[in-house]
Amino acid sequence: MNYRHAYHAGNFADVVKHAILARILTYMKLKPQPFRVIDTHAGTGRYDLGGVEASKTGEWRDGIARLTGTETGTDFTGTDFTGTHFTGQDFTGQGLPADVAVLLQPYLDVVTSLNVPGALTVYPGSPVIARRLMRPGDHLVANELHPDDFAALKAEFRRVPDTKVLNLDAWVALKSLLPPPERRGVVLIDPPYEAAGEFAHLPDALSEALKRFATGVYIIWYPVKDHDVADQFVRAASHLSSAKILDVRLTISRPFAGLGLTETGLLILNPPYSLHGELQTLMPFLVERLAEGQGASYRLDLIRD
Ligand code: SAM
Repeated sequence: MNYRHAYHAGNFADVVKHAILARILTYMKLKPQPFRVIDTHAGTGRYDLGGVEASKTGEWRDGIARLTGTETGTDFTGTDFTGTHFTGQDFTGQGLPADVAVLLQPYLDVVTSLNVPGALTVYPGSPVIARRLMRPGDHLVANELHPDDFAALKAEFRRVPDTKVLNLDAWVALKSLLPPPERRGVVLIDPPYEAAGEFAHLPDALSEALKRFATGVYIIWYPVKDHDVADQFVRAASHLSSAKILDVRLTISRPFAGLGLTETGLLILNPPYSLHGELQTLMPFLVERLAEGQGASYRLDLIRD
């Protein structure tokens, strides 16, 4: 296991993934019944943007830093999910069109809550975003295999109620954790795709998961390095069940040497009915903010309505 998310935290792919995760969790809270989030590849939960890894790539500068700007905030105070009072910079204050600001507010509120006024030095990973947007009584299960990242994750959630941290192989975890007792849930599957065959293995894993929990909202992140491989995965996943599926892609540029990943994908099974409309507002804005040059675009495919 060589992959460390600290090199990539807060990059354009994280921004898209986390903004959409926040929209889905916001929807889940419209009903009073508790729900569960299962984060199969959770990472550490929190990343130091001034640390060695993030500084080495600087990917966050073209992701979350572009989205928030640095000097546009206003003072912001609040109370987080543990009841702790915090102050930070309100990154949502200015510079965003009103309809986009409303949609990004939950996500940016979490970023705000981790940072001191006037600075962007810490970026939240998916389990911290999830926990901070969940209610008391909603359960989070965050799973991470890498021993160092698991230790950091465990420390992050020490004594946080309704939260379990596991150190399992994600594919084992997925089988053993479904269905959730609440029968309402979001499953985030965010593999590093460093092992050969990880893409090819996903439809089988998803098929097993859907047998256990057909009504869950599944969010699967995937990189688009080769369109044929990505399209094949989406096709295979769409044949697994009759679930409604939303496929979201954002491209920051035509591929060119040295830029690394230029296109990110999210496949969402059983998306909230409101998500497609929200993303029709959000995605054009994200393309504009995150573009790295010619060829920036987005695609939203509702595979089954
Ligand atoms: N979901 C995180 C977020 O959005 O903040 C980022 C996760 S990162 C893309 C992928 C994580 O999966 C890494 O932390 C890696 O150590 C972990 N990982 C890799 N293979 C795994 C496996 N088989 N089971 C569980 N975790 C794994």
